[in-house]
Amino acid sequence: MNTYARFPVEFERGEGVTLWDAEGNAYLDFLAGISVCNAGHCHPQVVAAIEAQARTLMHVSNLYFTRPMVELAERLSASSLGGRVYFANSGAEANEAALKLVRKARPRGDVVVLHGGFHGRTYGALSATFQESKQAPFAPLVPGFVPVARDPEALDAAVGETTAAVLLEPIQGETGVTVLSGELLAAARAACDRTGAALVFDEVQTGMGRTGTLWAYEGVGVVPDAITVAKALGGGLPVGALITGERLADVLAPGDHGSTFGGGPVIAAAAHAALDVLDDPALLARVRELGARLRESLRELPGVLDVRGRGLMVAADVDRSAPDVVRRALLEQRLVINATGPQTLRFLPPLVVEQSHVDDALARLAPLLS
Ligand code: PLP
Repeated sequence: MNTYARFPVEFERGEGVTLWDAEGNAYLDFLAGISVCNAGHCHPQVVAAIEAQARTLMHVSNLYFTRPMVELAERLSASSLGGRVYFANSGAEANEAALKLVRKARPRGDVVVLHGGFHGRTYGALSATFQESKQAPFAPLVPGFVPVARDPEALDAAVGETTAAVLLEPIQGETGVTVLSGELLAAARAACDRTGAALVFDEVQTGMGRTGTLWAYEGVGVVPDAITVAKALGGGLPVGALITGERLADVLAPGDHGSTFGGGPVIAAAAHAALDVLDDPALLARVRELGARLRESLRELPGVLDVRGRGLMVAADVDRSAPDVVRRALLEQRLVINATGPQTLRFLPPLVVEQSHVDDALARLAPLLS
């Protein structure tokens, strides 16, 4: 269906930070399939893991255990909040699981969400996404969501005894890489502690090393009660997961929720390989270093009004139409980026990017902004 205004480019092949179109032209990819290909396109370890698992066992349903799934759950829990893991197939589905869990933990409770947040397109996730243009055509939405401004006092006032959860992205991705302040995140934690509500971080876009730590919450000094992850977790294949801490680990019981494909062996094998690549202190240090370098250099370009971000999750506001710059970058400079607003460019390169790629991207962008 006509749900995307696609560009007139057909990609055929990818390797690392490079994509090739059907005519053999090479492109520098600074979008990574919207923060999915964090390990780079067709990373050899991810490809090998998928090939090997596809030859061994592809699917048995969630009525049974498989080793790749069990070990992936253990690994995700150990790398983060220490509780249990539910596997889904996308970010929106991971958020649906989180919403069901927090409602079951506090029956009929409200979910407080932030202005500027984005949590997905399914009905629960869409209802948590307080954006008129996305919600209005699909009303009525799921009740029980309370949108508040990105302000510590407003957030504190909105959370009470009937609040089931506060759901937020530590860095809001789709609305322009807005880094939430430490003060706001601390207020969310304090309000949840005061009332017994659950603090859930949507790490669908910020997770898997994107911000220079494996999970973004590690870099902000606030530990949530649960995180949702997806995008880069599957190394390029579709997967989502809800990871809880101890407190919420046993809320969902058999029959409460489920998915035919969630956590299947091929996806789980791909995720192990993606984690092998991305959960690496040297790689994460480079993400922080190159991200700082990218932001600094963007600030020096003409036409750039503001630069935001953490690690390699970066946005730049420009003095002209961002969609035009994105289109010209793709078609004239063969640089893949996207726009998250009328004047906002977003950069989400694969995390295996090197300094020379960052310099190359800036050199391709500069003529479009001068
Ligand atoms: N949450 C966040 C923060 C996202 O950025 C996205 C997608 O961009 C989603 C949820 C939805 O993920 P999916 O498209 O896999 O359903």
